[in-house]
Amino acid sequence: MKKYELKFYPDPVLRMISSPVRRVNNTIRQLIKKMSNIMYNNKGIGLAAPQVGTLERVIIADIGEGLISMINPEILTGFGEDYLEEGCLSLPETVVNVKRKQSVFVRYLDKNEKEKESELDGLTSRVIQHEIDHLNGILIIDYAPVSERLNVLSNLKI
Ligand SMILES: [Zn+2]
Repeated sequence: MKKYELKFYPDPVLRMISSPVRRVNNTIRQLIKKMSNIMYNNKGIGLAAPQVGTLERVIIADIGEGLISMINPEILTGFGEDYLEEGCLSLPETVVNVKRKQSVFVRYLDKNEKEKESELDGLTSRVIQHEIDHLNGILIIDYAPVSERLNVLSNLKI
């Protein structure tokens, strides 16, 4: 069985674009299970497949209200805007103030390959937007103003 482990910046996999999942099979359900173990072990509230080295459009989140998993998530529309300091398991000790939509309408497949649509707000909306960014190779440091980016990167000690 494939071994999944948390990837850290500047691992190039974090900058790659993930591919849509074609079949939601046991391999995908296994991936979700492994990802949730990694997320909970690291006290994270969200994780995307590229963060464990797999370029599939799979994300998970748990803000303390139970595990959410989404396959091929797509933001259909969003409303409002909101700033909050975010961290990322792949960028330890890095915090960036990120502007995001307050609420989003997301379409995705669940782990039984059923198409679903959900309207999310608050922290769940934010986490899901953060994780979908990962599927497109986007990281929180990309939201830091250019003047602060060097500082952020030097804190990473790379
Ligand atoms: Zn992240």
